[in-house]
Amino acid sequence: MSVEWVDISNHEKITELGQRVLNEGEISRNEAEWLFQLENQVDIYDLLSWSNRIREHYKGNKIHLCSIVNTKAGGCSENCKFCSQSAAYTTESPKYEFVDSEPVRQAAEEAKDNQVTALGLVAAWKGLSEGPVLDEVCNQIEKLAKSGTVRPDASLGLIKDQVVADRLKKSGLQCYNHNLETSERFFPEVCSTHSFEERIETIQYLKNAGIKICSGGIFGMGETLSDRCDMAFRLKDLKVNVVPINLLNPVEGTPLSERPNIDPMEALKCIACFRLILPRQEIMIAGGRAVNLRDLQSMIFMAGASALMVGNYLTTLNQTVEQDLQMLKDLGLDPDWGNHNFQDQEADSESTECSLEKPCDCN
Ligand code: SF4
Repeated sequence: MSVEWVDISNHEKITELGQRVLNEGEISRNEAEWLFQLENQVDIYDLLSWSNRIREHYKGNKIHLCSIVNTKAGGCSENCKFCSQSAAYTTESPKYEFVDSEPVRQAAEEAKDNQVTALGLVAAWKGLSEGPVLDEVCNQIEKLAKSGTVRPDASLGLIKDQVVADRLKKSGLQCYNHNLETSERFFPEVCSTHSFEERIETIQYLKNAGIKICSGGIFGMGETLSDRCDMAFRLKDLKVNVVPINLLNPVEGTPLSERPNIDPMEALKCIACFRLILPRQEIMIAGGRAVNLRDLQSMIFMAGASALMVGNYLTTLNQTVEQDLQMLKDLGLDPDWGNHNFQDQEADSESTECSLEKPCDCN
């Protein structure tokens, strides 16, 4: 019988890094890269035990739930290779123009009934500029904010003007989702109709306006482990508040339709690495959870996730909200954040607002 020896030096090194983050210290880019490269199951379980402790230390047993409503579907001018809503690809995804306020109101009521903290208004288009569409978007955000049902969030693409970000803030928007998607190096492989730099500029305009930032990306598009590590450190530099992690769910008709699913343990390891790099941020598991993680879904919290996208995603299905709430209950986790206002990130968020009026590199 062959015996596989455990590498004690790996155990000691993982312990040292985990303990350091637990003591409110930081890990370096090189140390994080080493964690991303771990392959042995024993080492990965070691890492998960630390990511779980770190989540508990910074977040207690609270889990922040988010939902989305697709307010404008399909026909997008951009060519993001993972997305079934791009007009560049032929897919089965629905197509419709910006909806009126009734579906948004209904989604908000449903979200509230399910203990969901925030509802994101999502639109498949390149971005927002001043004009009637922005007026309508602001009108709907204002209505949602005044209703007090859920926190109004949005994901409305690129912003190229400070005035647009300021108007969103004034309408009552608290948090805006704008993913980096991947590393700066790999981004051109994923999209060629806009640049990584435009995405960073959008985030800077929103931060200048005082809007909290939800920004993350997708694992499984063909990026390297080093790309994932780069993305995590870029998000750390940007001091974003919520980090959504999507696991690619390849959609027929898109250029990434043939990509294999990500291995569940590999996904959990990468989520754990994000928790050690970004200890105070909400790490939210979003699209592709059920199809990629299968029976290991509940282990995302051990890997360090502190937030969950519930309900159906934009174009793919999720497990039911009831199943998610039962999963949290079984794990002793509490979805009730009340009005989650990011106070637990105060040490980071104090310095998130750039004092300049134009986007800059100061963050
Ligand atoms: S990800 Fe957004 S910007 Fe890219 S194609 Fe899809 S809807 Fe358009």
